Amino acid sequence: PSGLLAHLNDAQRAAACHGMEPLLIIAGAGTGKTTTLVYRVAQQIAQGVPAERILLLSFTRRAAFQMIQRVAAVLSDADAAPNVWGGTFHGVATRLLRQYGPAIGVHPRFTIYDQGDAEDLMGALCRELDLDTKDKTFPKKRACLAIHSYGVNAEVPLDDVLVAQHPQFERHAAALQRLFAAYTQRKAELHVFDYDDLLRKWCDLLDHEQVGPKIRGRFELVLVDEYQDTNRLQARLLGGLRPDGRGLTVVGDDAQSIYSFRAATVRNILDFPRQFPGAQIIKLEQNYRSTQPILTTTNGVIAQAAERYEKELWSSRTAGPPPQLVTCEDEFEQVEFVTNRILEHQRQGIPLAQQAVLFRASHHSIQLEGQLARLGIEFVKYGGLKFVEAAHVKDLLSLLRLAENPRDTVSGARALCLLPGIGPKKAQDLLRELAAADGQFDVWRDAKAPAKSKEIWPEFVRLMSWLGQRGAGEDLGEQVRRASKFYEPLLEQAYDNPAQRLADLEELNQLAAHAPDRATLLADLTVDPPAARGELRGGPDRDQTLTLSTLHSAKGLEWRVVYVLHASDGKIPLERASFDFDQLEEERRIFYVALTRAADWLYVCYPRHEAAAYGYTSRSGWGGDMFESCRLTRFITKAVKASFQCQNAATFQPP
Ligand code: ATP
Ligand code: MG
Repeated sequence: PSGLLAHLNDAQRAAACHGMEPLLIIAGAGTGKTTTLVYRVAQQIAQGVPAERILLLSFTRRAAFQMIQRVAAVLSDADAAPNVWGGTFHGVATRLLRQYGPAIGVHPRFTIYDQGDAEDLMGALCRELDLDTKDKTFPKKRACLAIHSYGVNAEVPLDDVLVAQHPQFERHAAALQRLFAAYTQRKAELHVFDYDDLLRKWCDLLDHEQVGPKIRGRFELVLVDEYQDTNRLQARLLGGLRPDGRGLTVVGDDAQSIYSFRAATVRNILDFPRQFPGAQIIKLEQNYRSTQPILTTTNGVIAQAAERYEKELWSSRTAGPPPQLVTCEDEFEQVEFVTNRILEHQRQGIPLAQQAVLFRASHHSIQLEGQLARLGIEFVKYGGLKFVEAAHVKDLLSLLRLAENPRDTVSGARALCLLPGIGPKKAQDLLRELAAADGQFDVWRDAKAPAKSKEIWPEFVRLMSWLGQRGAGEDLGEQVRRASKFYEPLLEQAYDNPAQRLADLEELNQLAAHAPDRATLLADLTVDPPAARGELRGGPDRDQTLTLSTLHSAKGLEWRVVYVLHASDGKIPLERASFDFDQLEEERRIFYVALTRAADWLYVCYPRHEAAAYGYTSRSGWGGDMFESCRLTRFITKAVKASFQCQNAATFQPP
């Protein structure tokens, strides 16, 4: 075959050329699912479907953006693809709500609460309703939000969520019911949405008599990558978007479903043919990413899963170094081993950009980060605390968010509490005044500021009035600049080591330069935040940057060399997940996702001893030896172990 699709195998080509009937591609890791979606979009554009009538949903904005770039490359036409609508479900929901929201009563200047904000609101309401103050067994604000969110996304009533997920809170059902009602009502009063609201409101748009058909009419083709990690609400959304499934394509791998804690369910994949009768199913079995020795190992790991749809992946890349299982004495040796191998591979011609170090929890890489910094090895880290979750970034954004939506009390309290002498109580009073004045910041001019803030108060009011008067798109760069200028001295007082934090503010200023308007900037930062510091700046030299990532954030990606750290029981699987059957199965899939990222080289490392947390060990008690012995992860069974070459770090010989 020649032309656009010449590189694809038969099954992939069939998927790319498939007509408009609903299509499900179910296939294992590295079989070209994402690639096939890219070619399908390109093929459809080449056949005359206008790019702006295509909607491509992926798990992160970065992933969607890269797919659209690849479409342009396939078409060798940089202009053909950018109009494709791409992003996450939440990102696309936000764009649609900006445009069509007013028709269903959405306030045009709504703002969005990220998880932290939503937790804060839950916490505030718990106090207002006097729920958690007396009873110490009442769930904390974070658990409250998790319970609420799970119910929304799985579309199940509170009682069921409690029975299935949180039996210890069952006796608080009535109080939680009250709390959630208050939470819903308060968000409406404040004109704020949490993440879940975005999806629900998108559903509302689709149900609306006039708006629904307009949105449905916008898109001819809707494609979803990583469908195994979508939830019930998202499946319903797709049904609303494409009621008969025409033009709908979803791809996924049940063995890689790793977000059930957020109510994602593989049932979406399995039920697809029932939800959209006439759906065609295409399976892909040839893996193009990894060598056969690596596949043998990964096949072995997933074969232990309790439940799965048999698919034995094979690769035509028969030869390659065997995966390495490396025992290290302790964490220091693990760090030393990994950095040595990274540099060795680099010397042999595999650039840092083609290497990645993966770990289960963000803090598992702290020692490694220190060592990389000492050695001057550039790295970018995904899946840790996000840039926008950093306190100082949230501080600065709170000023802009309050200006955008003066009713937003969470941002308002945060902004006001930046000022010396102002606490939550005083902030509340001031926000009440502001609300009474219909969000005109001038009303604060005559407010009684605490003595400590006497000098800064007029400056603050001037800034907020000025920001408040700016319409959405006006002088965005200047808005962020003035807000930073106001905030910087406060930051320098509040934090010991302000240099990195000031650099973050600078990054925010640069982001503002590329955003069309304030509402979009704030929404993007909340809904699809950059996954790593510096991500949007592009980085100085991509080739010279190593990737560090949590296992979750590595989804969908690939590198020639992959190192998995801390493959010991308690870390993989995480201790807290090891007591529950379903959670344990999910941990296994998470491990599987990690191993299947490797193309040529796979190193799985585990330290035999580990500094015990808090200086306390179960074996020797306080003050005993500060090291705990670790066991190799239970996911590497005897049979799986046999597929590895096993070595000690100290005597390691490259194969
Ligand atoms: P994952 O399950 O990890 O998301 P995937 O199924 O989406 O993986 P891709 O990322 O699309 O797989 O592809 C894996 C690798 O295989 C990529 O490097 C891709 O370029 C390559 N590839 C896919 N199809 C082919 C093909 N027909 N010929 C050669 N290489 C291919
Ligand atoms: Mg993929």
